[in-house]
Amino acid sequence: MDQFTDVKGLFGCDVFNDSVMQERLPKKVYRELKRTIEEGKDLSPETADVVAHEMKEWAIEKGATHYSHWFQPLTGVTAEKHDAFITAPMENGKVLLSFSGKELIKGEPDASSFPSGGLRATFEARGYTTWDCTSPAFVRHDAAGATLCIPTAFCSYTGEALDQKTPLLRSMQAINTQALRLIRLLGNTTSKKVIPCVGAEQEYFLVDIKHWEQRKDLIYTGRTLFGAMPPKGQEMDDHYLGTIRQRVSAYMREVNEECWKLGVPAKTQHNEAAPGQHELAPIYEPVNLAADHNQMMMRILKKVASRHGLRCLLHEKPFAGVNGSGKHNNWSLSTDDGINLLEPGAAPHDNVQFLLILACILKAVDEHAELLRESAADVGNDNRLGGNEAPPAIISVFVGEQLEDVLEQLYSTGTATRSIGRTKMNTGVDALPDFMKDVTDRNRTSPFAFTGNKFEFRMPGARDSISFCNVVLNTIVADAFREACDVLEASEDIDLAVHDLIKKYVTEHRRIVFSGNGYAPEWPEEAKRRGLPNLPSMVDAIPALTTEKTIRLFESFKVFTKAELESRSEIQYDIYSKVINIEARTMIDMAAKQFIPAAVKYTTVLADSINSVKAAGAFETPVQLELLRRTSDDLKDLNSAMKHLSALVERLPSCREGRERAEFCRTLLVPAMESLRRPVDRLEMIVDKEMWPMPSYGDMIFEV
Ligand code: ADP
Ligand code: MG
Repeated sequence: MDQFTDVKGLFGCDVFNDSVMQERLPKKVYRELKRTIEEGKDLSPETADVVAHEMKEWAIEKGATHYSHWFQPLTGVTAEKHDAFITAPMENGKVLLSFSGKELIKGEPDASSFPSGGLRATFEARGYTTWDCTSPAFVRHDAAGATLCIPTAFCSYTGEALDQKTPLLRSMQAINTQALRLIRLLGNTTSKKVIPCVGAEQEYFLVDIKHWEQRKDLIYTGRTLFGAMPPKGQEMDDHYLGTIRQRVSAYMREVNEECWKLGVPAKTQHNEAAPGQHELAPIYEPVNLAADHNQMMMRILKKVASRHGLRCLLHEKPFAGVNGSGKHNNWSLSTDDGINLLEPGAAPHDNVQFLLILACILKAVDEHAELLRESAADVGNDNRLGGNEAPPAIISVFVGEQLEDVLEQLYSTGTATRSIGRTKMNTGVDALPDFMKDVTDRNRTSPFAFTGNKFEFRMPGARDSISFCNVVLNTIVADAFREACDVLEASEDIDLAVHDLIKKYVTEHRRIVFSGNGYAPEWPEEAKRRGLPNLPSMVDAIPALTTEKTIRLFESFKVFTKAELESRSEIQYDIYSKVINIEARTMIDMAAKQFIPAAVKYTTVLADSINSVKAAGAFETPVQLELLRRTSDDLKDLNSAMKHLSALVERLPSCREGRERAEFCRTLLVPAMESLRRPVDRLEMIVDKEMWPMPSYGDMIFEV
């Protein structure tokens, strides 16, 4: 690798971005495409042909042989099908390289193997991918050579969304319309667009590939299903923001370079709380781009890891007993002329627009707390939420000291007249420069925290797409804005109406504001008293997708139809059951083929030792005997827990697919899996390490 990284030269070099388009497209074509990108105007077939041709020429210069419609079906990962640019051989046996406007705009992958939750019968397999020109095409280099990737949305023949992107784009339209309406009412005449912007902090673990290869649980499920805690965990807090090891630094450098080439604005990197855990945060962007870029980033994290003899784990909870990995979703609303609508300014009590928007967000989050919780539901996240590290499964909002004070004034008198100002930082050291402190400290335990000029939704899991949680955020806030606009438009005195509305919303939704410790055991009780929902498992959360309230919300904005929501809920139940089933079967496999034989071998060694000690004439072998007894006891527990789990797994197909099967997994399989884990983890602490068939937690998280 070169000594120096030319960041400016590298950034976006593999992206068909605005400057490339401007340079390569005829002016008229460029202008038409820009109108499509910015205003959603139709693209004529002739223009599409010219764009496709130029895109192909550019890609071929970068070495591309294939193009691919790149999309995000409901599998949780991205999908792609590659086509070479070659056309049928001509008479002279040569081929041309071509790429038409039609091929750019529309693809038709056989959709029958993607989850559709009953939206499509297999015989109605047609699904279309459609170019999302608001997210630029890019050339990806990997073992397949170079491929021109075209970000697309994926819909069924009848127009139902089969992917993550379509509803996201729909929700962006919804919030744009309602937010514009709101700021117009409040006097903004200049902004043309309101765009939800997101910066998604990505957490991940790195393990050595040679360890990963020896762990069937990591291979099949992405997380460890067994493993005793090492003598040292994360209690010393010496990993968080600690010096990054050279091997990891080299990895991060390459990750950054790969991200930058694809225009992914990777910015902040550091060690996270758990040993072996790290984070990469990009600069925030419009949410559809942020969602695409997050997918690209996850892929890069994985790809580069294998080049460094590492494996990148994106699972929400790869190791029990240390922190899991989340994906903090920082969300704000920005106008096309650069105004952040969540910026409170120096005197928030006086910033009526900000207060109204804040009040609307409190209302939205309170009214749709179950749905927001659902948007972060993922099988792996059940192991993370509510642990002593990640927000609990209860939605609440942290607003910080300054805004809390403003809200208090509103509750008590209906009017806010002052804001707590910023104070000087005093370190007590003369040589250190003075600076102004932030008006509020952080609260790391809140699932939804106001952090100065954005909200940080901390629930989503590391592996999940950020699309759905933002679909929910955009739509519930659009709904609150719409209601506010309806009231304001019907009022005679708008200033008074705004004032009343702020007071009404903050008072009615006071229960959602919580600034205490979300990890404290008292909080669930307090939340219950407040009537806030607590949905610990994904299975508890899924019904929120299909309540009347949710259906009404999404249908009114044309973000989802009822059928689409029902299909998504079916898919979620199905994913839950499948993942738990795979985990259970992996545990049985490991127990039968690895742990039982290892424990048996150890008992043989102990028995042999006892016999030889006896043969040598010594009659007491208390330690060996004790070990033999303990090993045999645990072995017995292990064996019966394994048999119990196997019996449950065999019953699974007799449960009806959907909710019934998911409930069965949640209430019977998950506890049975925990019961199998316990004796194995005990045995790991007894059996000779040489005989233990796989690397330990200590080996994995401390040896990268
Ligand atoms: P933290 O200290 O919580 O890590 P940072 O300032 O580093 O906060 O930001 C974390 C993420 O939030 C980054 O991805 C950043 O780009 C994003 N972010 C910053 N400002 C905004 C904003 N106005 N809207 C959305 N995301 C933002
Ligand atoms: Mg951060």
